[in-house]
Amino acid sequence: MRRLFALLCLLLSLTAAAAPYPPVSVQVRAERVSPHGFYIPGLSGAASRENEGFMSNAGFVVTPAGVVVFDTLGSPSLAWEMLRRIREITPLPIRRVIISHYHADHYYGIQVFKDVGAEVWANEAGRAMVGSEDWRQRYEQRKELLGTWINDGTQRFPPADLWLSGDTDFELGGLHFQLRYVGPAHSPEDMVMYVAEDGLLFAGDLVFKGRVPFVGDADSRLWLAAMDKLIAFHPKVLVPGHGEVSHDPMSDLTQTRDYLRDVRRQMGRAVADLVPFEEAYAHGDWAKYEAMPAFAEAHRRNAYNTYLLMEKESLGK
Ligand SMILES: [Zn+2]
Repeated sequence: MRRLFALLCLLLSLTAAAAPYPPVSVQVRAERVSPHGFYIPGLSGAASRENEGFMSNAGFVVTPAGVVVFDTLGSPSLAWEMLRRIREITPLPIRRVIISHYHADHYYGIQVFKDVGAEVWANEAGRAMVGSEDWRQRYEQRKELLGTWINDGTQRFPPADLWLSGDTDFELGGLHFQLRYVGPAHSPEDMVMYVAEDGLLFAGDLVFKGRVPFVGDADSRLWLAAMDKLIAFHPKVLVPGHGEVSHDPMSDLTQTRDYLRDVRRQMGRAVADLVPFEEAYAHGDWAKYEAMPAFAEAHRRNAYNTYLLMEKESLGK
């Protein structure tokens, strides 16, 4: 009965003339990637007014018993568009939302799915994120950059319904889902989702395709270890957190791994030779990454954080 009511509310709100959130002009489309899986391909580069914050991917899996969503894009407006795409494909209830990690571009749309009755699952390491100093700073930055869509009037941060402490498997409509905790790598709470019947892996931000990864203050040594766990799935299809879907996942896993290795190698050598960061960076061999999207926004910071990390490692900390 409750579900029927929720469905009626949803149908009414979807047919209402005015959407509940400021509209976006970017094209949010769903692309089928496997028998049951779809993804929403975000635009390239870092979040900007031009791309309206639409620069991360999200996905969903349609089972006979309902829909499982993986990540919710970077604003309620974008998530609303995503919901409309799902509704064009199936009227089945959205049962579950899995959050890969608590970075603004992946979870700011949660409320939209929560409002239609979905249960939100995330790793417990993300629990402290909302309300933290990092969260507050990022929220201020997003409001300044994307104020049309992200402001105190539009944005809510509902907590997860279930905080997972590690790996979790579940079945829905005959499909088998494997949630794997692979953090701390890109973030403390990284979680990936594998759909066994489809050989489909939603990899979150552990794998970036065709752009420089955002390493932030992540521990690249642990990240490299997490890559091995992803490789162990032998996925047939991989949806990265950013960039196009891959039907040749091993090469993308390798690309991200090689980038991390290369930055660690170059920064590690500088640390060992006591070369200051500025000098090491200026003389670094970054030519093969320069033309990649997000190079300007992400690479220098990646290198700097890696440098600091390797200084600590060299001191045995
Ligand atoms: Zn991220």
